[in-house]
Amino acid sequence: MAARIAERLNGRRLLAVEAVGKNLLLSFEGGYVLHSHLRMNGRWTLVPRGAELRGRPWLVLRGSRYEARQWNGPVLDLHAGAIRRLGPDILADPPDLDRMLANLRREDGGREVGDALVDQRLVAGIGNKWKAEALWQARLSPWRRLRDTTEDELRAALEAATRLMRRSLDGLRHRNDVYRRVGRPCPRCGERIRSRGQGDANRIAYWCPGCQV
Ligand SMILES: [Zn+2]
Repeated sequence: MAARIAERLNGRRLLAVEAVGKNLLLSFEGGYVLHSHLRMNGRWTLVPRGAELRGRPWLVLRGSRYEARQWNGPVLDLHAGAIRRLGPDILADPPDLDRMLANLRREDGGREVGDALVDQRLVAGIGNKWKAEALWQARLSPWRRLRDTTEDELRAALEAATRLMRRSLDGLRHRNDVYRRVGRPCPRCGERIRSRGQGDANRIAYWCPGCQV
């Protein structure tokens, strides 16, 4: 994903940087907006152009004298056109679950839950990994249509995302249950974990076909 972002931003001038809550919005020529959410392990570093690089940043933005490097984090997305409005922050204290649920209810009912949960207009801050882990905890399949979910199920998934991301923020280690565990047995029911691309961005969804209905 990051590679395609670099390709699309290449040669475009950075016009503005705006912080919205814990979100950073970088506007580029051509109407592109880069959205990064740095909570937890994400960070940007600013160094002289061409300084020694150790490790693999997600993205490098080079100016004539400096370069900014983006490392990790739960969200790095590129939007064509302004982000009109970000949804409520999943890590707000307390998170506005009612407004998130209302946003999800207003969305097209044919949309899949796993796709909707990473739509930053509906809920801000959930990345692909925490989506997968939260849906597993809530026993909800990423392929379920929004119209086929109950309020309690969606709430359980959002609460699981908050809980997991908070624990991670507190530095507690998390052992993945489904994320990047394709073919391995589900810790709950023993079925093999599966994966498949989901949504317009074709992000990989991980789920257990045995216990996530
Ligand atoms: Zn299972």
